[in-house]
Amino acid sequence: MPAQASISRRQLLKGSPRPADFRPRPPGVTVASLGECTRCGDCVSACPEGVLGLADDGVVLLPDRGECTFCGTCAEVCEEPVFATDLRMSHTFVISNDCFVQAGITCMSCRDACPEEAISMQPRIGGPFLPVLNQSACTGCGACVAPCPADAIHAVRKEPADA
Ligand code: SF4
Ligand code: SF4
Ligand code: SF4
Repeated sequence: MPAQASISRRQLLKGSPRPADFRPRPPGVTVASLGECTRCGDCVSACPEGVLGLADDGVVLLPDRGECTFCGTCAEVCEEPVFATDLRMSHTFVISNDCFVQAGITCMSCRDACPEEAISMQPRIGGPFLPVLNQSACTGCGACVAPCPADAIHAVRKEPADA
């Protein structure tokens, strides 16, 4: 069942709680393959979007800096078996109840930023349209994160966990 369809009426009205901190990774990097990362920084320097950084346990995606375009440069420059050939993200995103719309302020910045049209605005009575993120359409690119003025969009591990 698509994630969008499983959102309850209560969740739509109340929003989602802010999830626990979770580190998203670049496309093709799994929990298992991350163990091969030597933290050399080659992919960080090579990423044309500047959206990679280094955490204690290896490479990390920094969606607050911009959008991953799935160009594959990080995988090309990496000399270790960190990147799978299938450049999919192991994460998706949720919109927490920090969203300005929950406070009655009209905003559509995330919807406008999404290249996949994975965020739709849901009409409701008595308030501005609510953004609903369809996780089955979300690629994990992170383009919606930086434009959000409320810092309301957070990465979460994809379920069922495949990495
Ligand atoms: S796929 Fe391209 S844009 Fe995305 S993290 Fe890798 S180098 Fe950066
Ligand atoms: S992370 Fe998902 S919802 Fe956000 S812009 Fe990318 S595809 Fe759209
Ligand atoms: S950009 Fe942020 S504040 Fe604006 S509608 Fe989207 S989640 Fe809400």
